[in-house]
Amino acid sequence: MPNCIFCDIIQRKMSAKIVFEDSYSLAFEDINPKAPTHILIIPKRHIESVNAMTEEDELALGRLFLVARDLAQERKINRSGFRTVINTGHNAGQSVFHVHLHLLGGRPMAWPPG
Ligand code: AMP
Repeated sequence: MPNCIFCDIIQRKMSAKIVFEDSYSLAFEDINPKAPTHILIIPKRHIESVNAMTEEDELALGRLFLVARDLAQERKINRSGFRTVINTGHNAGQSVFHVHLHLLGGRPMAWPPG
């Protein structure tokens, strides 16, 4: 998708600290981390947001959580706990319109979110 920074990262047109890749997904460090671990996990297929999901995306989006599980184990935050977040639309603060799962951990987190 033109003008999508996350598609540019997938195509290596933009640099990022990539930590995992498979045929469905890519994971990289957030450029502005909000916790000691802050990784973004994205589907390789361009999907704007959860609002734009179709049944076809079921497998690719389910995969994001399996990647989060494995990265949480790798970073040793699986026992202390971690947060997985997908922001959708304006009120949730979505700023990049290519679905991404935030994996946040390494510190206690408040609830409800601000
Ligand atoms: P959201 O507000 O849920 O859409 O999250 C977008 C996230 O993408 C933010 O946490 C940004 O810090 C992050 N971000 C934006 N541009 C980049 C980039 N080039 N590389 C890594 N992370 C990015």
